[in-house]
Amino acid sequence: MKIVWRYISSSRNSYAALYAACETAGYLLDPADEKEIQNADVVCYSLNSLNYDVYAEEMRSLDAVVIAGGPHPSALYQEVLCDADYVVVGEGERALPLLLDALTNGADTSKIPGVASASGYQQPGYMVRLDAFPSFSQMKGYIELSRGCPHNCGYCQTPRLHGHCMRHRSRESVVSLAKRYHDARFVTPNAFAYGSSDGLHPDCDKLERLLRSLPDNAVYLGTFPSEVRPEFVTAGTAELVVQYCANKNLHFGAQSASDAVLSKLRRGHTVSAVWDALDICRDFHLRPVVDVIFGFPFETDEDEEATLAFVKEVSRFGKVHVHYFSPLAGTPLSDAVPREVLPEVDRELGRLALHGQVTGYWHPKRFD
Ligand code: SF4
Repeated sequence: MKIVWRYISSSRNSYAALYAACETAGYLLDPADEKEIQNADVVCYSLNSLNYDVYAEEMRSLDAVVIAGGPHPSALYQEVLCDADYVVVGEGERALPLLLDALTNGADTSKIPGVASASGYQQPGYMVRLDAFPSFSQMKGYIELSRGCPHNCGYCQTPRLHGHCMRHRSRESVVSLAKRYHDARFVTPNAFAYGSSDGLHPDCDKLERLLRSLPDNAVYLGTFPSEVRPEFVTAGTAELVVQYCANKNLHFGAQSASDAVLSKLRRGHTVSAVWDALDICRDFHLRPVVDVIFGFPFETDEDEEATLAFVKEVSRFGKVHVHYFSPLAGTPLSDAVPREVLPEVDRELGRLALHGQVTGYWHPKRFD
């Protein structure tokens, strides 16, 4: 049975993790493009809400067993079953190899926890333990430090996909994976929460023990894709970056400069926490890279202007990465209608982008 992975660049980290999990179970998920999937018996996809529509027709047209997973299929598995034969809901490291086993052996596929099909769906009674699976094997990916997020930001799919309980990869496992790279780069919902028992407060001792254990690597922590939350930017965590890491930037999300907007987003921090984080960056000579989002439906003109003023201030000594709000499946804001950016804000962001002070986009966009 020829089993392949539909290669899509935006899901390469999921690919790396699932390749490793399936390899352990005896299945090699070869990457396949649009043409190569035509000769496969089973094709696996990982899709998000921005690229789902791009691949839906392709999945429907295939003469193969189609397995879909990722944030969008997990959130809307019943709808996605119109386009795919199976949906792996949530974490796939255990469910996908079990499904491949059943398909290969012609066994019953209807009772595999975490797999939805026309026969129904049984929720798994477990969460994946990170140490049970490597982050990658032959298909390289970032080292996954932690999974799950105790926060509940209204626009974000992470806690819906991986739960609210933050789990960490052990230091030994991180070190062993890091030995395979010259540079150690990580993926996590909040790098400064590594080791924290509740994911809500930094544990600088555990973070330092981890960083101290990676002596031969150039370590990048607090940069994409291991950004941090603003209230975790403290003198203690900044000091660790300066002492142990190669990055001179620190990347964190502000999202808005309006407390009213932050509260409606359930971000769990205030604008003042963002300014404190910026002060700490300056104190420790770290260049801040700050995410903001425009287009929330409940944003007022004043909120938008406050965020623009914030963008201008930060761009004097740091960099701002601008996003446009996208209502994502399964999130509290999934039905929200984005608001258009004010023309004067649009113009000013364009001007800052021309000078390289902001990056990103503030209009609707789709990804492949
Ligand atoms: S945006 Fe970050 S902090 Fe908020 S829920 Fe998502 S992962 Fe957690």
